[in-house]
Amino acid sequence: MSQKVYDVLIIGGGPAGFTAGIYAKRAGLDVAMIEKGVPGGAVAITYEVCNYPGFKQIGGPELATLMFEHMQSLGVEVIFDEVKNTALTDQVKTVECFNGTYKAHTVILCLGAAARKLNLDNERQFIGKGISYCATCDGNLFKDQDVAIVGGGNSALEDAVYMSNIAKKVYLIHRRDQFRGEEILAKEVKETKNIELVLCSRVAKLNGESTLQSIEVENLVDKSLKTIDLSALFVSIGRGPDTEVVDKQVALNQAGYIVANEKMETNVAGVYVAGDIRETPLRQIVTACSDGAVAATSAFTYIKLNKIK
Ligand code: NAP
Repeated sequence: MSQKVYDVLIIGGGPAGFTAGIYAKRAGLDVAMIEKGVPGGAVAITYEVCNYPGFKQIGGPELATLMFEHMQSLGVEVIFDEVKNTALTDQVKTVECFNGTYKAHTVILCLGAAARKLNLDNERQFIGKGISYCATCDGNLFKDQDVAIVGGGNSALEDAVYMSNIAKKVYLIHRRDQFRGEEILAKEVKETKNIELVLCSRVAKLNGESTLQSIEVENLVDKSLKTIDLSALFVSIGRGPDTEVVDKQVALNQAGYIVANEKMETNVAGVYVAGDIRETPLRQIVTACSDGAVAATSAFTYIKLNKIK
């Protein structure tokens, strides 16, 4: 029996992928989404979203669930598997996963971005043992304990406020004296009693045996070092592209993001990109959704022009 060929395979289940699924299915295409973990992408680990039109304030996981359920209600097939390799330049594209291989006429890459690491010597050793890249996922494990957050963007500011309600004390360590995140969040952080700002500083060393017990923090102005005893360090320094599974096929910019035109077309015919993995001036839920809609519409046009359907 010959293998099924989907009209569209969406790789990655975040807002970009959900929207691509909704638009592709409503256009009458045979579409499946491949997701390796919990659907929702970065939104699913965002404590609160206040800038997605229609929702003045909504929990990230709640918004992600609403989007996922919307897509599923239309009948988009969801394949829970992790992509191992791809062959995208052939007319029929192949996506090889750990538990199966899938084929499609078009592929929409919605791979999102992975959490940036501090790149400290023993960082990997403490992941899940005191180092976390998601305060909303792991914060509750550190109730009434001392913790630190690294970063100065919206995520770090939100994580600091979130953890201030759980932990005894929260250190917010940032490498500059100005926050990148919004003023409204920075103000909330500064007004929260159990948050201590550690500015112009970097985490220089992680100490502990089986779990993280303390960190050494270097003041970047006077080069002094101080030790902070804590139970957890939440690294919240943004996200970066992870394009290993499409390596050497689609064009990337210098920072490693996938390059596309305004139709979300990559340099490979029939391959589109949407969301945070794309070269774009703004990475927000609303822009990811917009990309997803455009990518699915372009996939539809490609299928019609090539008389595939
Ligand atoms: P981000 O805005 O890129 O901020 C990253 C922060 O980490 C910056 O303060 C940066 O410092 C710092 N940083 C980067 N690399 C570092 C390193 N190696 N060591 C120490 N510090 C480092 O990332 P984000 O906060 O995750 O936000 C990503 C996007 O999502 C943004 O567009 C943000 O607005 C959006 N977002 C929105 C909301 C919301 O609206 N509710 C919530 C979360 C995120 P510098 O400032 O010195 O560069």
